[in-house]
Amino acid sequence: MPEFLLSHEPAIRFGFFFGILVLMALWEVTAPRRPLNVSKRSRWFSNLGLVGIDTLVLRLLLPAAAVSTAILAAQRDWGLLNNLRLPGGLAIVVAVLALDFTIYLQHAMFHFIPTLWRLHRVHHTDLDFDVTTGIRFHPIEIILSMGIKMAAVLLLGAPALAVIIFEFSSTPPAFSTTATSVFEGVWIGSSGSSSSHLRCTGSITPF
Ligand SMILES: [Zn+2]
Repeated sequence: MPEFLLSHEPAIRFGFFFGILVLMALWEVTAPRRPLNVSKRSRWFSNLGLVGIDTLVLRLLLPAAAVSTAILAAQRDWGLLNNLRLPGGLAIVVAVLALDFTIYLQHAMFHFIPTLWRLHRVHHTDLDFDVTTGIRFHPIEIILSMGIKMAAVLLLGAPALAVIIFEFSSTPPAFSTTATSVFEGVWIGSSGSSSSHLRCTGSITPF
């Protein structure tokens, strides 16, 4: 199973990302929480266009990405966990929790440092609130976020499987901005203030 995940990771990630996006979008259409003020078509064009640009920029500038960094760290014995030699399962749990905490700190940093907030507010200033709000990020934030994640993977010596589990588990929360009658995201930052909301997760791309 881990070998299958590692060798098919890009295709699985792509399917997982768009599968959840389509499911949430259908749910939103059938059970909307609130009426939208702006044409969905123009917002989706912008938001999904940004996802496309983010993915392209990321692939061009940091093609190795987090999983490849983890594989390289394991081959060279770099990072804490590759030297502690914990039992496999424990190393994965520790790595997933540590990566999640890193991305939590990263999000706080993007809110509290004015220069970074100027990038992050792209996400918070969406004109409406739906499933695509959670994946709307400035390309520079995407690059910085991946750089931080790769540095954390290197320092931790995170197992590749832990990185995959962490990245897959980040996808559903990223779509928790879904405005269905069941999910109610808390969204205060639409006026450009630095107020946070409950579920602003790490920036993600389909690949
Ligand atoms: Zn935020």
